[in-house]
Amino acid sequence: MPLQEHNYWLTTTEFPTTDSSRPLPETADVVVIGAGFTGLSAARTLAKRGARVAVLESETIGWGASSRNGGMVLTGMKLGVNKLISMYGRELTRRMYAASLASMDCVEKIVQEEKIECDFARCGHLEVACKQKHFDDYTRQTEIIEVEFNHKLRVVQKSELSAEIGSSIYYGGMVDEMSAGCNPARYVAGLARSAMKNGAEIFEHARVESIQRDSRQGETGWKITTSRGSLWAHEVFVGTSGYTGSATPELQKKIIPIGSFIITTEVLPKALAHELSPRNRMIYDSKNYLYYYRLTPDGRMLFGGRAAFFPENDQTVRQSAEILRRGMVSVYPQLADARIEFVWGGTLDFAFDIMPHAGQMDGMYYAVGYAGHGVAMATYQGQKIAELMAGDQPENPFVGIPFPGAPLGLYSGKPWFLPLAGAWYKVLDWVS
Ligand SMILES: Cc1cc2nc3c(=O)[nH]c(=O)nc-3n(C[C@H](O)[C@H](O)[C@H](O)COP(=O)(O)OP(=O)(O)OC[C@H]3O[C@@H](n4cnc5c(N)ncnc54)[C@H](O)[C@@H]3O)c2cc1C
Repeated sequence: MPLQEHNYWLTTTEFPTTDSSRPLPETADVVVIGAGFTGLSAARTLAKRGARVAVLESETIGWGASSRNGGMVLTGMKLGVNKLISMYGRELTRRMYAASLASMDCVEKIVQEEKIECDFARCGHLEVACKQKHFDDYTRQTEIIEVEFNHKLRVVQKSELSAEIGSSIYYGGMVDEMSAGCNPARYVAGLARSAMKNGAEIFEHARVESIQRDSRQGETGWKITTSRGSLWAHEVFVGTSGYTGSATPELQKKIIPIGSFIITTEVLPKALAHELSPRNRMIYDSKNYLYYYRLTPDGRMLFGGRAAFFPENDQTVRQSAEILRRGMVSVYPQLADARIEFVWGGTLDFAFDIMPHAGQMDGMYYAVGYAGHGVAMATYQGQKIAELMAGDQPENPFVGIPFPGAPLGLYSGKPWFLPLAGAWYKVLDWVS
């Protein structure tokens, strides 16, 4: 099969259909913006509690990062535990770590409850060290994580690494058996079905253009204007991640959209697939400009990375195929002749402090900032913020932490500094 610039996961998935001629309701209790993991998880939770929910999606269900990602359901956050403790202290970091573990349970529970056939499996993840000093740090990290967070990781010496990965370029690894893998497109489609089954209405091709405070019959709420007309809602929940735009300008200023790209090979012979990843782990390396990779359920190598820093477009996707192929062969020389069948890209959402953030801004609820660790955390935040909206007081250590904007306010939502940031990360990988 010749190379297709297309998301492989979409070839395995059927999405629920919505009626494009159906008018928007005049009113809703909650308008959710964005039909990805965050928005759909929130919509599902709110609808289950009896709220009238309208999900507005500018493209189609799961169109954003939620159908395009690596399907790695990971523990932890993007930042290492030492950095987190230095930023937030031990107690808050402990709560954040517990939440990140709970976020995986949250995905597993939804998959089981809703019988979503998305190949969810607790296959564990493997982080591999690109330098000796990265490996030395694994020992320190596992000790802290065990003592502080009561969670056990396993350090794998270089001499034992062949049991985990068919590559000899790394200095050792660290395994977390709790992490899982799934087919993200099937998962997001299942989440949408579940939200709809519980009564949420989803409107595709309904781009939110503006949101204004508006009172109606003595009640305060919001007028939401979309490309399919307008409606009024008591509350608004924003789950637009790396695609956050000018409808929510304050949030847009706090989120940097960064491109990430993925290739998949042809289906590999079983013995070769087993040699590359004998325990079928979700794998990523220790660089800032990192590679992440795994086998797909049908036995392809899926290999991703930040081949270009700018978000996906025809040019960045095309360039990424060759850059990632070279990266993949540098890890796995065994794949030098493997055909690349799919390449695609998606947009990640980075906050300036590389942390997830959730709560209320300008009177609207939101959850963003997953920095490439969103499969579990987005599902979890959608649920937790929905519980908060429903009047509960759920444990959520990410609400209320400082949410920094750009230094000196030098950012309006157009990331002019991305080439600089990309170059800077490459420099960091040389020196650290
Ligand atoms: C290539 C890639 C690989 C990744 N790999 C992993 C991984 O292996 N593991 C992991 O944990 N995370 C990974 N991530 C991150 C993860 O996919 C995201 O964090 C997660 O999907 C975010 O979900 P979301 O619902 O918040 O956002 P999205 O899924 O991006 O959804 C946001 C939606 O909002 C819609 N929208 C935006 N503006 C408007 C508007 N004005 N009106 C209406 N709708 C609007 C968009 O169309 C979009 O569909 C990866 C991301 C990418 C791009």
